[in-house]
Amino acid sequence: MKILYQLNSKIKDLKPYEPLKGDFRIRLDANESFLSLPTNVMTEILDTLVQTDFNRYPDSLALNSCRAFAAYYGVNPELVTAGNGSDELISVLISTFLMKGDTVVTLSPDFTMYRFYSSLVEVRCIEVVKKSNFTVDVDELITVVNQTSAKMILFSNPCNPTSLGLTREEVRKIINSVSALVVLDEAYMDFWDQSLLQEADQYDNLVILRTCSKAIGLAALRIGFAVANETITSAIRAVKSPYNVNTLTQSAASVILSNSEILKEASNQIVCSRILLSQQLENLLKRKPNRFVLFPSCTNFVFLRLNDAKSVYEQLLLKGIAVRFMGDCLRITAGAPQENTELITALEQIL
Ligand code: PMP
Repeated sequence: MKILYQLNSKIKDLKPYEPLKGDFRIRLDANESFLSLPTNVMTEILDTLVQTDFNRYPDSLALNSCRAFAAYYGVNPELVTAGNGSDELISVLISTFLMKGDTVVTLSPDFTMYRFYSSLVEVRCIEVVKKSNFTVDVDELITVVNQTSAKMILFSNPCNPTSLGLTREEVRKIINSVSALVVLDEAYMDFWDQSLLQEADQYDNLVILRTCSKAIGLAALRIGFAVANETITSAIRAVKSPYNVNTLTQSAASVILSNSEILKEASNQIVCSRILLSQQLENLLKRKPNRFVLFPSCTNFVFLRLNDAKSVYEQLLLKGIAVRFMGDCLRITAGAPQENTELITALEQIL
């Protein structure tokens, strides 16, 4: 019988996403938290595990997790939607608010999944290229969004991979100057202080994304949140798949998000590690002048530009240290103090 389907042009060359595989002593390539959960939190999570009705579907709206998230961040729980990682929410937002042929604007460099999910729904994706120092020309961005009648603009703040951030004032200016829906991805905002979460319901055209995969330390369990006004929230909830966040993840997220002191302490520790790593790199730069450019970070990672990024990356791998290679740049997650020190020692030898 003749098979009627074909691999269509939008997917035929796609390859499955493959994170770096291998047994590396030090993993600084995925911007995860280097802290494991405290024993008492782990015990609390395990207690919920034995009470789980494994034969029942999860709560489709993950209400307890949304409430715990809302209480921790001081937002209205009615305006919070949980996703299977914020990654899923990016996909849901794009397929909810864009139609084939619409225009979406992203920045470059920025988180690549915005472009990827856009390509799947056949929208026109315009990338506004950042300046050579990776800062954003906010006025140019606004002009492009308006001139192309874009329906949506997506960007991360602070940015993965550049580690730089736009101030609250700059982001407010973008939201107020465009009629497009602004998807503001605050995946790394726990490490900085310019969040617009408290203002999410004040705009007709804003969705803020947060994740539990970074500062909260739950990357393994996959949960993220979208915060927006009622109309947008209803639309996201209507489009997402019904049981998108599993029960174990919901329970663990509710427990950890209710431990605000532990979370704040963890964020502090991670920020301290990144500050220390930046200082160590600045000192290294004094010993190896002009060997690389270090960008100022407001995240849990640092971003370096260097001519021989590929070779440095490969030599680090040989020494058992994984970082993220990106063209002429390396993105390095702040690790435990000992990991950072080993990284610096390795870099000193390689450079
Ligand atoms: N947004 C940004 C900017 C990210 O860097 C990441 C993870 N690398 C995500 C979203 C996705 O996070 P998750 O799906 O783990 O919530």
